[in-house]
Parts: sequence; structure tokens; C-alpha cells
Amino acid sequence: MLLGIDDTDSPSGMCTTYLGALLARKLNKMHLPVLEARLLRLNPNVIYKTRGNAAICLEVNGDIDRVFETACEMVTGLAHFSHENTNPGVVAMENRPRPDFYWKAVRDFCTTEEAIVVLETAGAHYKGFKNGRGLIGATAAVCSQVPDMTFEYLTYRNSNVFGTPRFVDRKSLFEAEASTYPHTWDTVDYENNCVVCVPHTPDPVLFGIRGESPSYVTLARMQVDSEPTGAEQIFATNQGTDAHLVDGKIGALAEGFSYRITGMVCTHAQTGIGGHVSIGLGDGDTVTRCMAYEPTKGFRNVLRALWPGDRVLVTGSYKGGSINLEKVCVITLSQAGTTRPPVCPSCGARMTSAGTLKGYKCRKCGAHETEPQVTFHDRTITPGWYEVPPVARRHLAKPLCRGP
Ligand code: ATP
Repeated sequence: MLLGIDDTDSPSGMCTTYLGALLARKLNKMHLPVLEARLLRLNPNVIYKTRGNAAICLEVNGDIDRVFETACEMVTGLAHFSHENTNPGVVAMENRPRPDFYWKAVRDFCTTEEAIVVLETAGAHYKGFKNGRGLIGATAAVCSQVPDMTFEYLTYRNSNVFGTPRFVDRKSLFEAEASTYPHTWDTVDYENNCVVCVPHTPDPVLFGIRGESPSYVTLARMQVDSEPTGAEQIFATNQGTDAHLVDGKIGALAEGFSYRITGMVCTHAQTGIGGHVSIGLGDGDTVTRCMAYEPTKGFRNVLRALWPGDRVLVTGSYKGGSINLEKVCVITLSQAGTTRPPVCPSCGARMTSAGTLKGYKCRKCGAHETEPQVTFHDRTITPGWYEVPPVARRHLAKPLCRGP
């Protein structure tokens, strides 16, 4: 049977993955074996999210009533009900329904009523606490279909130290990444010389290692020195898969969707207040703005190296009238150049314009030329893919080490 849970945390603590890890332990102890723990990231542009819009699905071998009751008890005991945006949902069903609702929740916006239709159709057990919004994520989790699966080894702190500074040895994280990359990723950020996998929020997570298989994330985890952990769990996930992207067209972009878009660069990069960098991307008559915010660090130089006329494919979410860039693929570079009147082939003097569409004239010897002198600029960028650094990567964005 499948159990889905969502929306149990608040900015001051808890984490639905932690609840999932504790529940998996409890069910195993009750001889209700957990066959798979799945962590699904849903539409990153949903405003109600606490942090990463995560939901959990546990696949359990056992009696559905016992599993559902145990999950509801745990949510009742641990969820942060006092926060207005914490509205847990718990669902349980015998078989996995069609994945349509999952894809909608990853790429689009859903309502609680739509989730309930899916649950009723599947004959599911379900409980929505408070306004029941968590039923959306919980339903999406049990409907999930993850054709491109990655894994995360999550470690959690002992509850008596929640809220205090974490101890995870920095050097051991760099070594773990060095010995397992590209089979694991985003443990650290070499370019920006910082640790990525240890949160700074007061939630129970100590660190998480992301990678392509349970064995690689375990191999990396075993190299990390840290404070003692209270619980550990490997999740199968849709992280790092670009599951949120749909093909988009400039001029027909919808707020809160994440796209893959091809277009022509039509302005040079501009740096705004706070170090945010933008370019205009065009498709015929319509232009949209593409943004690389300050936290994307060196990625902003990719935009600065683009010229009008370059053809690119970009990925990112459309929010507030611009695409917040995750990746850029330079398809072709324009022959960016500047023109000036040519040098006279007869006497060597610099010619001048002979008037609009009349070419160039030598004031010294009277010679005529039709074409200007064009100087092509040396480009500092080559065709290919570019991405934001690990420190700025969103959970769902596929790192280039996994392929374009
Ligand atoms: P948690 O660790 O508690 O899961 P979070 O950052 O993942 O924290 P939530 O607290 O779960 O975020 O808040 C997200 C809320 O948005 C949930 O109630 C979830 O059901 C809902 N939600 C998720 N995806 C969508 C969607 N596509 N459309 C509408 N609501 C959504």
C-alpha cells in the first residue's frame, strides 16, 4: 500500500522528510515493512511552501488501516499545527493511481478539491488537518511516477540539539564529494568554496547527500564526520531531474510555470541593483527578460558574455514577468562585430560615408567603396551548456553532471 504525507512543518522547525523517516522506522518496528521511501519535490513556485515544497510517499507492505492510523497519530504528535501555513494531509491507498495529478502538482497549481476527487476515485483513506491543503502534496506523492530517479541520503539531528549550531566536518564533505562526484553532486560548491548540503534553518536535517544510486550516496555519507545522528534515511527522489520543466514559447508564458525556451538574445546584459543581471530574449516580435540573481554568483558572467543575435535555450521559472534562469545552452553565437568606413584601397586614407545607402567615398582621391570595414569581436563564450553553481541550484534542477 502507499502512504502520502505533506505539510507538517513551519519555518521554526520540523520537516516532512523527518516525519517520514521516523514513521518508516516505526512501521518497520511494527512489522509493517517499508519497501521504499520517496521524496517528491513539487512546483517550486507554490507560495504556501515552507522551504522546498517536499512531500513524502512510503510504500508499505501491510494492513492499510494500521498504517494509516499510525501515520495520523504521528502527524498529530509532531506537526507544527500552531503555524497558519501548516495544514497537514495524510492519504493511504492500495494501488498507485494514474500519475496525472502528480505531474500537475510538479508543473502547475492544484486545488484541495482536485486532490479529493483523485482520492475518492481511488477509494483512499485520507485525512486533511486544519484547512487540509497538505492533501495536495500527499496525493501527488502517492500518484508519483519518477522515470528518472535520483537518491538522497538524509541524516537528522538528535532532538535534544534541535536549534543549536550543527557540527559537520567541512573537510570530510569536500573529500566525500571528491571521491564520489559525478555520481553524487551538490554536497559542496568548489567554485564558491562553500558547503551546500548542510541547512542553516532550525529544522531537524543535519545534512543530505544527493546522488545517482543508494550505494553512491551511502559511500559518500560514510566519509562524513559529524555530530551523532538521531535518524538516517535514504529517499528515492525526483530531485535533479528537471521534472518541473515544460516547453514554452516567449509571449505565451504563464506565471509560476517552469520552462525550457529557445530564443535570440536581443540586448546586452544589464547589471541592476544588488548585482542582479538580466538580458532580453526574443522570439520574433516579443521579448522576455531573463534574470540571473546575485546568489547565482559566477553564472551571471555567462549572461554578460552573450551578445545580441546569439541563439540560446534557457531553463527556469517564469515569475513576476521574467525567467529566473537555472541553465543556459548557447546554440549559436552571432557574428558580433562593429562597422566603420573602410580604408581607401587606392591611397590608404580613411573613407567617409557617401550618404545613406550610397557606400563610402575617399575625400582625398575620390575612390568609391560599397562595403564597410567590419571588425569581429573575440567571443569569451563558446556554444554549450552553462548552469548556476550548486549553492544556487533548485532541488528539481538537473545538474549538468547528469547530462543536459
Ligand atoms: P514540508 O517539509 O512541510 O513539506 P515544504 O517546504 O515542502 O515543507 P509545505 O509546508 O509542504 O512546504 O507547503 C506546501 C503546500 O503547498 C502543501 O500544503 C502542499 O499540499 C501544497 N502544494 C504543493 N504543490 C502544490 C501545487 N502544485 N499546487 C497547489 N498547492 C500545492
